Amino acid sequence: MTPFDYARASSAQDAVAQARRAGAKYLGAGTNLVDLMREGVETPDRLVDVSGLSRRVEPIDGGGLLIGAAVSNTAVAEDAAVRADYPALARAILSGASAQIRNMATVGGNILQRTRCTYFLDVEGAACNKRQPGQGCDALEGFNRGHGILGVSPACIATHPSDMCVALAAFDAVVHLAGANGRRHLPLVDLHRLPGDTPHLETVLEPGELITAVELPPQAVAARSTYRKVRDRASYAFALVSVAATLEMAAGRITDVRIALGGVAPKPWRAREAEAALIGAVPEQSAFAAAADLALSAARTRPGNAFKPELARRTIVAVLSDLAGAER
Ligand code: SF4
Repeated sequence: MTPFDYARASSAQDAVAQARRAGAKYLGAGTNLVDLMREGVETPDRLVDVSGLSRRVEPIDGGGLLIGAAVSNTAVAEDAAVRADYPALARAILSGASAQIRNMATVGGNILQRTRCTYFLDVEGAACNKRQPGQGCDALEGFNRGHGILGVSPACIATHPSDMCVALAAFDAVVHLAGANGRRHLPLVDLHRLPGDTPHLETVLEPGELITAVELPPQAVAARSTYRKVRDRASYAFALVSVAATLEMAAGRITDVRIALGGVAPKPWRAREAEAALIGAVPEQSAFAAAADLALSAARTRPGNAFKPELARRTIVAVLSDLAGAER
């Protein structure tokens, strides 16, 4: 591991000041970053520990929740307000990683975790444009069963590995940021970049900008929500496909619906065309299937992940049918 120095931040302002130099990285629990440092993928020369900051889940005046960036994944999943008002978020978190990792991992770290593409992690043996711009992408012709089908590019087909972020995307979560130029708020769905020809640039964060909290806006529709994860084994596996969805109905018609996908794209993927097509529709399988077709219409596959569009379609239909109490 490359030598680095360590500093513990006393506040968000202090963290930003301490991380001002190039080569500095924020450290939450380190459940992803330290692994990457051991592998030589990440080589920061300073770690600014922010794990002691923002460790509360608080109600917001007027409704909604503010979740501190250093709150553990377990604490979010066990929070009574999260379970009652945003159940898909609790389900998504509990479907990820192991209990031990969830007990340690922070909300901010979960959002900024790096892809688990095998070639990205193989510093010695694999070409990877994300790790080394211009090097090539061994996943294109290699083992790409878990790779992306939406929003990908010829330079990179990696997926964002988070379950939590898929639910946050469905709930229109807003990320609170602090940086050298002050504080700002950003919709979570706008935080991560698509790879294009610069897959090494993964977010729109400015250098040294820190996630301080995640805001969940008040949404009546969020209470009728769920998360389903399809994976190769029952636990401790990343999603092949996942779906977070909410559904609201009145007088036999759909009045509000949110659909977000995981395991298929370089970022938590909101299926807005599918949502728009469902507003006013009768909540039945044919409508859900048509919406799922729309959600996957831009899919681009590789030989190893050619099964994903159909798997995603079926998962969307199943989740929406469950929420609607509809026959499948
Ligand atoms: Fe690297 Fe992306 Fe290709 Fe994986 S898919 S090897 S992360 S460029």
